[in-house]
Amino acid sequence: MKECIRCGTCCKKGGPSFHLEDKILIDKGIIPSKYIYTIRKGERSYDNVKECFLPASSDILKLKGQKGLWTCVFLNEANNDCNIYENRPMECKVLKCWDTREIEKIYAKNRLTRQDLISSVEGLWELVEGHQERCSYDMLKFFIDSLNKSKKTEALKGILEIIEYDIKIRELVVQKAGLETDLTDFLFGRPITETIKIYGLKIKMEKGKYILIPMG
Ligand code: SF4
Repeated sequence: MKECIRCGTCCKKGGPSFHLEDKILIDKGIIPSKYIYTIRKGERSYDNVKECFLPASSDILKLKGQKGLWTCVFLNEANNDCNIYENRPMECKVLKCWDTREIEKIYAKNRLTRQDLISSVEGLWELVEGHQERCSYDMLKFFIDSLNKSKKTEALKGILEIIEYDIKIRELVVQKAGLETDLTDFLFGRPITETIKIYGLKIKMEKGKYILIPMG
């Protein structure tokens, strides 16, 4: 029977998404939250199985890559070893690069969400919910779609307000609450200043103000 030869190729294409079955790894601190980032509900992201960009139907929590690369944070590149092999997440256990049927069956089921992990942390969860309310991708998409319509000024104002709130809340939890900067991509998802590029736009600071420009 064919077996994984642990060549590391899959681990270099990006870390796994988490499922409820993986919660214990995070609860026990085997996988620290600072190594996780959130794709928030409604955010467009690449679906490896369907091979296209789709809006996420719920939170998708994923393992970060190393230094801005796709390579999973737990891969030891010197020997292609997984640093948490005995405790690797479910998707890593199920994935067989030569036969993807099993992973295709489970990849969208029982996705772990931020609510599963931090809804009982008083104060913090309210911040996350407040951010989701003020900066939802449904609202961002609505304003982006409105840019080409008659209410362009309101749409632009709406987008910039979302971006400013998204920036401010990250600064606030680090400066005032003393949380690690690395945690913000888990708590509030990837910064909208980055993800807005998926919608063909980018943000620039000019004379102390953010401005929105189309991607060149
Ligand atoms: S957790 Fe381990 S097995 Fe899973 S992608 Fe990362 S390095 Fe590979």
